This record gives sequence, structure tokens and C-alpha cells, in this order.
Amino acid sequence: MPFVRAMLRNDYSKDGSQFSVTELLGPPQRTYLKRDNKEIRSTYSMFAAFIGTSMHATFERDTVESEGEIAERRVHANVCGADVSGQIDLYCNNTIYDYKTVRSPKSKIESKHYDQVCCNGYLAELNGFEVEQVAVIYIDITWQYSRSVLDSSYPQDPWRIFLMPYDREHAITILNKAIPEHLTALAGNPRDCTSEEQWQKPTVYAITKQGATRASKLCDSYAEAQELLKPGQIIETRPGARTFCGTPQNSMCALAYCCPQFKRESNISPSTPDF
Ligand code: SF4
Repeated sequence: MPFVRAMLRNDYSKDGSQFSVTELLGPPQRTYLKRDNKEIRSTYSMFAAFIGTSMHATFERDTVESEGEIAERRVHANVCGADVSGQIDLYCNNTIYDYKTVRSPKSKIESKHYDQVCCNGYLAELNGFEVEQVAVIYIDITWQYSRSVLDSSYPQDPWRIFLMPYDREHAITILNKAIPEHLTALAGNPRDCTSEEQWQKPTVYAITKQGATRASKLCDSYAEAQELLKPGQIIETRPGARTFCGTPQNSMCALAYCCPQFKRESNISPSTPDF
């Protein structure tokens, strides 16, 4: 059935390169685990890939080469002794663009997205492209037309484009740090994922009105929440979580099932077979 095939399709390819920029910006431990294990994608990952792939295909269809636009080009270069590839979503007017589907409005470019587009810019330069700027186009798939009409502070469009200067030195610094780490991981010695790589969210203390779900204030500590508490309000503890690692039942990391760090931090016995 087309629907099922579309959801199960995984077109991601690094075109025979040793590392893709996407991989290098992710945790080295994932590179290590991928060496000998298959990724098992969750419903979330499959859906996210489906949305992203559909959007890229649509934008590629509407690219006009006669106007100097180049879409979906994978470029390779030897960096720190490794064959690294990066995917250019769009190149035009000496600018490298990256498309991102997101689930909340963006008021600025996320640093990890800036890192990625600068690294792609650097690889593009090594392939003869002239690069002066980088840009990320965010498409918010949760945008609601009705809210945009009723609330003038709500984004009036589902997309936002952020144009930034290209920083070659920044890209070189990132790649010089990431490539040795990933080579070490491939050799069998990965470091643990950091809390940032696990998308660790801290525990917060929400001050809410009795019976309400929306917090009037989020505090970093219970003591701070107690100090600010007014009559009729309660403190609700919202436990932190490693959002990307998730739980054995629901992980965004397609390698959690075989990850020793995940088992350790989830208090699963190391001898437990892959779940
Ligand atoms: S499950 Fe978590 S700790 Fe393990 S590789 Fe994935 S992100 Fe890293």
C-alpha cells in the first residue's frame, strides 16, 4: 500500500562517504552503534522523515536551474583525513540554504542548525562554490491559521527564513573536533553521549492555579517556587527527561535498544537482551 511504503521509506544516504555532516554533528556513540547495528525507527522518526522528505521533494521540484538555483546536491571533501559529505538543500545567490520542518515557531536560528549549514557551506566551498551567507528556512508544521487571525502576537506565516553570515573558521573548528571523536568511536571507543546530545530537560517546578494545566510560572527550584507561591496556587513538579533517549517504550534514538549507556541510565540490566 503506498501509504505504508511511504512511511517505511528511508531515503537517507551518505553517498558512500565515511561521515556525513549530520552524523558528525550527532553523538559519536551513535556512529559506533550504527557500525554493527540496524536502526529501528520509532513512529515519531518515521513520521518526521516522511514530512521532511516530502518537503524537500516539493522544493526540489520548484527549483529553477536556469536562475542559478542548485537543489539537493551532495558534496564530498577530504577533511582531517576522512571523506566527509554534506547535503546542500539549496544553493543560490552565494548562499547555502537548509530546510527544516519544526514543531514550534522559531524566533532565531538554532545554533545546531547554524553549525550544520556552516559545515555544508565549508564543504561546498571546497567543491568550488562561492559562499558568502548561510540560511535556514523553518517550516512550522503546527502553525494554525485560526490563531494567526485571532492573535496578532502569533506568527502570521508558517515559515521563517534566517539569513546569517557564513563563518568558515567556525565550520573548521567544529569538524576538527568532531572527526577525531567519530574516528575514535568507529575504532570501538565511543565517549558517552552528553546531556545536551540526549536533549536533557531539567526538572522544573510549575506554579499553577488549582485544577489548571497551564503554569503561570516555571521555576528551577522548589524553594524559588515556594517563595513566589500565592494563595490558591499549587506547585507541580515536572520531572526532567532525556527527551531524545526517551524510554524503552518510546525512544527517538533508533539505537537506544542496543545502547549500553541507555541501559545503564535507565537501570536496565546490561545482560537484558535488546528490547
Ligand atoms: S540512546 Fe541516548 S545515550 Fe544511547 S546513543 Fe542514543 S542518544 Fe546516545
